[in-house]
Amino acid sequence: MKKLKIPKFESSPIKRFFLTYKRILSISYKVNPKLLLYVTAINSFWGLTNLPVLYINKTLIDIVIRSVGTTDLITPLKTIGILIFLRALVEFARAATSNVNSFLTRAMGEQITAYLERAGGIKLNSLDIPLVESPDFQDKYKKIERESNNRLWGMIEPLSDLPNAIFTIVSGILPLITFNPWISLIVLVVTLPDIIVNARIAKKDYEAIQVLNPKWRMWGWIHWHMIDTRQFYENKILGNVNYLARKLFKIQKEIIDFQFLRRKKRATARTLASIPGYILSMVLNIYFFALALLGKITLGTAQLLYQGTNLLSLGFSTLLNDAVSVYENYLFVTDLTWFLELQPQLVSGKKIPSGIFTKGIEFKNVWFKYPNTKSWVLKGVSFSIGPKENLALVGENGAGKTTMIKLLSGFYKPDKGEVLVNGINIFEYEQTKYRHLLGVLFQDFSWYPFTAKESIGIGNVNKIRKTEEIKKFATLTGVHEFIEGLPKKYGNPLAKEFDQGVEPSKGQWQRIALARILFRDSKILVLDEPTSNVDPKAEEEIFEKIIELASEKILILISHRFSTVRKADRILVVDNGKIIEQGNHEELIKKEGEYAHIFSLQAKGYQ
Ligand code: ADP
Repeated sequence: MKKLKIPKFESSPIKRFFLTYKRILSISYKVNPKLLLYVTAINSFWGLTNLPVLYINKTLIDIVIRSVGTTDLITPLKTIGILIFLRALVEFARAATSNVNSFLTRAMGEQITAYLERAGGIKLNSLDIPLVESPDFQDKYKKIERESNNRLWGMIEPLSDLPNAIFTIVSGILPLITFNPWISLIVLVVTLPDIIVNARIAKKDYEAIQVLNPKWRMWGWIHWHMIDTRQFYENKILGNVNYLARKLFKIQKEIIDFQFLRRKKRATARTLASIPGYILSMVLNIYFFALALLGKITLGTAQLLYQGTNLLSLGFSTLLNDAVSVYENYLFVTDLTWFLELQPQLVSGKKIPSGIFTKGIEFKNVWFKYPNTKSWVLKGVSFSIGPKENLALVGENGAGKTTMIKLLSGFYKPDKGEVLVNGINIFEYEQTKYRHLLGVLFQDFSWYPFTAKESIGIGNVNKIRKTEEIKKFATLTGVHEFIEGLPKKYGNPLAKEFDQGVEPSKGQWQRIALARILFRDSKILVLDEPTSNVDPKAEEEIFEKIIELASEKILILISHRFSTVRKADRILVVDNGKIIEQGNHEELIKKEGEYAHIFSLQAKGYQ
């Protein structure tokens, strides 16, 4: 397998910021473009509404000053009344906007989280199994999963904050520019130390987080060991929970102390870096009011300019915090987009499988070992199955039977040789279409918490509403009576967590899973120990019915029970990655080889 492509690390902080922001925007746009637009518009509006308030305040002060000592108070009072009314309106609009913004941003957060769960699940399932199983991938994927809860808010907040900050800056800068553009520049220059300090802190924090990563991982592991119910038996027998708690405390203390120190430094640096801003604000204030005293500008204008300066600094510091927040999320967002953009490496072909089988299945000198392992699991396996044949695979655990099924399913590519279906290498088929041909029941099949009907119907979602057919297969696998006996029959959830839900036994689950695969209507039916938890008598009955049902299909069965295996048209005996014998039951018994030997052992057990 090709080496896993790891995302390129962007070293320029500015590029990193823009790249991350672009990726955040693109995810939010995909999730809900309208919501993104609303949030941006509302926050831009909020930032801009600073401007009318500034001008209303200025006008109010100027009118009051002008009207001091005049006899006609009615006219100025009228204007003052209108202005105060207008200001109240703007302030009300601001308050309303702020409320709307908080619920919209929350909705956006929830929708992005929900989208990432869906899109992540779909993506994960679209990837090749060798890739998903590789340690490189697992490392990175687990990291994304672990961080997603903490990081998401940091991703979403800047989306609403940034437009607000930009328009707050616009509101502050406009009155200053009309008065003296240099002042805006000075305000900017004075904010620079703050920007530099913050960028440096963000870089340091980023490096610190890298150092902390393994420790965080260990924190997660130990915590999981303490709370996962499957660990309880061992924890109780070993009496190790206090040991684990002490070990966890040591790591937690290291991390918490480290973070405390980091944040303390950060607070100090930021406080110091803000001092020039305060000094400038003081100096400008004195300057503006001195101008007012000299009669060069009105008192209202002095007030307007002063507030404009403050808005400008406020806008910048918000912008800065957001930039830091976006920057801090660089790694997570990069990993996330890397994952969402991953493509399968086992290239899917274009051929559409034919509905008519003339050639069945052929394994041609197949050699295979699992990625990252050294020993061959299949060593030159060759056999074929006719288009209507049924075949049983027998052999010891670890012989390679399931691996053959995984190769037939196209989960892995053989290292040498090929697997043909209907005369064509399976990788030449379009893979989704190819899998429509397959109905494979794996030993570790899935358990769904859905209703009994859905648990079977999900085998073929196109027909999921066909209750009668679902019942037919449930009857075939002998689980119909159990389902009919449930309080809600086929509508009963199969998990105790839900209302009136029941937990089927392992044998009943197996029958449900078997019904699900049979409901699939596949051309190739593969059953890997489908009835290992079902009693032998019932297994025989079920298998007889399956043979009948599959008379027009290819049927492959893996089983350790010879009472079932003997019914197959042909039996392959697999040993250590090779086929050592094949034939029907009688032929193999006559041969007195490995098959006859194991058969006689089992038969003795029943005597
Ligand atoms: P069987 O179905 O005959 O019991 P399998 O085909 O499941 O045997 O396994 C054959 C061998 O391949 C075993 O030694 C098993 O440990 C190994 N194996 C199975 N799956 C994997 C995997 N995903 N990665 C590495 N080795 C595997």
